[in-house]
Amino acid sequence: MKKAVYYGIRDVRVEDVEEPKAGKGEIKVKVKYCGICGSDLHEYLHGLFPESPFGHEVCGEVVETGPGVEGFKTGDHVATFIKDGYAEYLTAPIDKALKLPMDMDWKRAAVLEPLAGSIYALERGRVQPSDTVFIAGAGPVGLLILIALKTLGVETVYITDLSAKRRALAEKLGATASFDPASTKIPVKIRELTQGEGVDVTIEAVGIEATLKDCLASTKYRGTVIVQGIFTERALIHMLGFVTREMTMIGANHINAERSLEWLTNKDIAPESIVTSITPLENIVEGGFEMLANHKDEEIKILVEP
Ligand SMILES: [Zn+2]
Repeated sequence: MKKAVYYGIRDVRVEDVEEPKAGKGEIKVKVKYCGICGSDLHEYLHGLFPESPFGHEVCGEVVETGPGVEGFKTGDHVATFIKDGYAEYLTAPIDKALKLPMDMDWKRAAVLEPLAGSIYALERGRVQPSDTVFIAGAGPVGLLILIALKTLGVETVYITDLSAKRRALAEKLGATASFDPASTKIPVKIRELTQGEGVDVTIEAVGIEATLKDCLASTKYRGTVIVQGIFTERALIHMLGFVTREMTMIGANHINAERSLEWLTNKDIAPESIVTSITPLENIVEGGFEMLANHKDEEIKILVEP
């Protein structure tokens, strides 16, 4: 079978490898789509880092069940959350898989995992419907956070991005207002919009110093900063405001897959609207990683199809 194998920075090769077999407690899945996560792009550009399996946003069909597997059968549609999804087949322990309704659209199923990350981040930050929120970055993470916030009933959500296309999509998805951080001083703007106080919650969804600073400087007294962006460089932060305004800063890097499935099944939301293109596995480098690295203004979420 074909599989995209990670060799190093900007070195991913599609190779013929042996098909995996479902071991004890595992299912074998024929991959329909594997979404390219921001963390995968980060690993492609900067190297592997712990806690981030390469190719984990998978949906597909069960084609084999290993010994001892209960609750899954051949033909089931599933989402899985482990590595090696850039392949025709993968095997997953059943505790890293979730059964999907048979009529769920595959594109919708493909964003279950990243949506689950956004839900988790908001739960970890104890975000309330009455909160005012600012999101730094309208990439896949920021936009799914926005969708999750609107689903929770949060009314006021400000968002920033350098890309006009991403800002437009954010407004379509319910952002109260969006700003270009290249032309607007964000903390000043947020203060202007909140009677000088700042917002209750800010969410860093990019992973760079500038956006982290915007978040810290836009958060009100005793507010919360949730950091979900993947950082490559160190961030130099003046901590005085953090201390004097008694803020809480929270990192978020896990998922709530069950809640995500529940929302995708029962709620009128369209997280699949962040999918901008689908590329065949053979073209994962040019049509996937390089495309995302070089065309952030055009692409948001790319799905890989084996
Ligand atoms: Zn992911």
